[in-house]
Amino acid sequence: MKFHILTLFPEMVMQGLNTSIIGRAVEKNIISIDAVNIRDYTTDKHGKVDDYTYGGGAGMLMQAQPVFDAWKAITEGKKVRTIYVTPQGQTFNQKLAAELAREEELIFLCGHYEGIDERVLEETVTDYVSIGDYVLTGGELPAMVMIDAISRLVPEVLHNEVSAETESFHNDLLEYPQYSRPEEWHGKRVPEVLLSGNHGKIVEWRLEQAKKRTKERRPDLYKKYIQKEQLIKRLSKDKRNNIHIMESLSRGKGEILYEKGKNVLVYDRDSKVCMITVENREMGEQLLTLVPNDVQLFTTSQGFMNDLICSRFQCQVLHECFQICYTQREPLSVKHKDIRQLTLEHLSYVQEHYQNESAEYMKERILAGVMYGAFVEGQLVGFVGEHAEGSLGLLYVEEAYRGTGIGKSLEAYMINRHREWGYIPYGHVIVENEISRELQESLGLYLQKIISGGWNENIENNACIAGATVVIFECCENEMVLCYRV
Ligand code: SAM
Repeated sequence: MKFHILTLFPEMVMQGLNTSIIGRAVEKNIISIDAVNIRDYTTDKHGKVDDYTYGGGAGMLMQAQPVFDAWKAITEGKKVRTIYVTPQGQTFNQKLAAELAREEELIFLCGHYEGIDERVLEETVTDYVSIGDYVLTGGELPAMVMIDAISRLVPEVLHNEVSAETESFHNDLLEYPQYSRPEEWHGKRVPEVLLSGNHGKIVEWRLEQAKKRTKERRPDLYKKYIQKEQLIKRLSKDKRNNIHIMESLSRGKGEILYEKGKNVLVYDRDSKVCMITVENREMGEQLLTLVPNDVQLFTTSQGFMNDLICSRFQCQVLHECFQICYTQREPLSVKHKDIRQLTLEHLSYVQEHYQNESAEYMKERILAGVMYGAFVEGQLVGFVGEHAEGSLGLLYVEEAYRGTGIGKSLEAYMINRHREWGYIPYGHVIVENEISRELQESLGLYLQKIISGGWNENIENNACIAGATVVIFECCENEMVLCYRV
């Protein structure tokens, strides 16, 4: 991840970001931070970068020319997400931090004085982001705050990969209280359960404490958490059909756009996947009007939604698939021992060998830290991963190593990882892919039938509304989960 900061005070941001975890991530080249002095780009012979505002008013304004030229020197014609830190933007939060952590390059534009000439903002900025409803003297502190929060979500920056997953705001809960040595301090003992060594009991206690704390300190968050929990409970009555929605919610990804009785619309903004389950056509029609414009994948558990979605989004049937789900408690045995997380070093191998998805998508998956590879004598020979909406998939094994148990090991490894992270592993298998189906069954996954067609080659990047492609998942006798890639 590359961070560029456009500022009038480069030394301030560089000094603030070169210590501790962020400093070490820079040293190890996991992230890079460069501060560009806007003043270096002014064409004014006295080095001026600001002037009076037209129409009068207190204070000076940063001028368009130096800001634009400094920005252009970084982007060199490339499209780079550019964030203007401003009290007038959307409020920064953990969700936005996670979204931005998946970018490869980000530019932060820091204002000073009264701000920046509107015209250059119009030409350069993609996101307006604030750190809170108060006004600071400059954008340097907000940029540093955001870079710190984003960096720690970049794979490999934190040593313990999952530590960001248990922190405050994940899944709408604040983190539980924590204790270190000594066992007793000022007459206060560490809660017994934490000394018990019983992992299950500790997890339970921590969840209870997190709920209690959130209820007391952030009732607004707690309300969201409870709404979600109740919905998951309702959906669990038909777990095999709804596992993808339940998992999206419990992993803190899906946002509830509508829920009443059996009618539910959940949107995962990161992966742009919309999940719908409805009682009848009428409700289906109504909920389809709430689907966000940028949706890229659409899933539903009812067959009668097929023509509604097809006519609204001009979709076509794509794949016949099975929805798979691993509900057993025991971890699976993994025979092949050399399985490791993939990095950008392995990108070209992955892109070359997995062409069902775009090269860009495979890169994004590696950057998300959810691709794992099997190595034989140090050579990568296959991989597995997690799709953007959370399902297992992206399994590939080199021809020469098929039938050696590597595919099974990769799948089992990924299932175990998901279980360790507290997920219920689930995924979708194309019906014709008998090898994959046999593999899933041999691992004890429950299979449900699904229906399909083929990828629509005419769709550029699978990203236009007209001509959307469709995957249909038939999950039990009469019901189906439909999945539309738009
Ligand atoms: N006149 C501006 C207004 O009322 O919206 C405020 C300008 S402020 C004094 C100067 C710069 O500090 C802004 O251009 C922005 O980059 C930064 N800044 C101030 N408060 C901020 C906040 N809460 N979040 C993000 N950036 C902020």
